[in-house]
Amino acid sequence: MTDRPAVAARPVVVALTLALVGAGGLAVRPVAAQRSSYDVVIRNGRVLDPETGLDAVRSVGIRNGVIAAISRAPLIGRRTIDATGLVVAPGFVDLHAHGQDDENYRLYAQDGVTTALELEVGTEDVPAWYAARADGTLINVGVAASHLRARMLVLRDGGMAQGTLLPLDSAGRRAATDDEIAEIRRVIDRGLDAGGLGVGMGLAYTPAASKHEVVEAFRSAARRRAPVFVHTRSTGETDPGSSVEAYLEVIAASAVTGAPLHIVHLNSTSAASTPRTLALVTEARQRGLDVTAEAYPYIAGMTELASPLFDRFLTGPDSMFGTLMLPRTGERLTRATFLANRVPKERVIIFLNTPAMEALAITSPVTAIASDGGVRNGIGHPRTAGTFARVLGHYVRDTRQLTLMQAITKMTLMPARRLETLAPAFRRKGRLQVGADADVTIFDPATVQDRATYTAPALPSEGFRHVLVAGVSVVTDGRVVEGTRPGRPLRGTVRP
Ligand SMILES: [Zn+2]
Repeated sequence: MTDRPAVAARPVVVALTLALVGAGGLAVRPVAAQRSSYDVVIRNGRVLDPETGLDAVRSVGIRNGVIAAISRAPLIGRRTIDATGLVVAPGFVDLHAHGQDDENYRLYAQDGVTTALELEVGTEDVPAWYAARADGTLINVGVAASHLRARMLVLRDGGMAQGTLLPLDSAGRRAATDDEIAEIRRVIDRGLDAGGLGVGMGLAYTPAASKHEVVEAFRSAARRRAPVFVHTRSTGETDPGSSVEAYLEVIAASAVTGAPLHIVHLNSTSAASTPRTLALVTEARQRGLDVTAEAYPYIAGMTELASPLFDRFLTGPDSMFGTLMLPRTGERLTRATFLANRVPKERVIIFLNTPAMEALAITSPVTAIASDGGVRNGIGHPRTAGTFARVLGHYVRDTRQLTLMQAITKMTLMPARRLETLAPAFRRKGRLQVGADADVTIFDPATVQDRATYTAPALPSEGFRHVLVAGVSVVTDGRVVEGTRPGRPLRGTVRP
């Protein structure tokens, strides 16, 4: 979408003309019955659009799910939302949302999110994933084709039968033959052909995947200019196994193949190396490479305890286990309870970072905000419910480490741009402009706040007063609107 000035809307002009004619003694038609009134008008809010830089009090007119007017003058709509004193922003686009069911969509919506995408892990069966959501969703959704899940399928990982998200055995621990790598690529290609929004890779969960296999997966993505979303191979400060080594692996694969690269949760795969990895991403971009990254505002991560990611704990010191917490009970682990709980599907919180490194990752100009969220029956990580409110409350209002426009840019325009080459529908998202989709988040900057904690992770954020998807309210006065499903599936549509 090109930059466009905010336009004064037509209904106002018509009303004014009729009033003047009326004053002259001629017949006056009723103003209320105008053909050009709007479905919804958001009145008098502080409207932010990160692409044009608009930051001013305006009224927004929505018609047929699209933003039809942004006006200094009042607009007339069939329904009016009074946004006086509130911020009116594009709906947030979350590139990293594992929780993909109604429980999670409700929490995301109450955190200002209007589009939640599963791109890091993705799926081995893109058509089935979209078919499972064909009856509609509260917010917009989408998924990537998955290298990690294709590897589980082709190498017959035990997690497929056990219903885990991540590898349990062979996909993590066995090298693939050339034939198997070719089959993994076919699974990825089928997913991209079916509309997958890129390729998901979790190299920390598939340590046996060779450097060659990684480049092969990037080649599938490169043929379509599809971004590769990667959880990098290792986190640490010393080689082998440093964060820097892991970042160089995928930046090199992107440079060689031409596939765009998005590094997920830079905060958790960098930790003490955050200044070093941020420099790598920044300098790769300065060299013209299409490399982006994201972060979430917490010092802990969460993942499946039975995955190969935790194999290194077996040979590590006892003190390592104290960094792990069972979200189910809140207890910190020991070697004995680690072994007892290392069963399929059990998830664990990992305290791995410092507030200073978290802040570096969140405030860097190269990172988008993405939650890595997902709860099951109320158990999980607070990032699911609180990521966006925590950035707006802590980083913008309370500590002023980001301006409001910087934060909104990280939540809207940056993630939309990441996907719009492959999926042009994203050119109408992440913006608040005439012609953009009417995905809108309206919040009180004075009170917006996360409430979710490590022991109560499913407490919704507060301060998000109204959230609209395609012009339909999904949150009204801070509460989820029951029975409405305006969300749409988003797919990659550009073909090689
Ligand atoms: Zn991850």
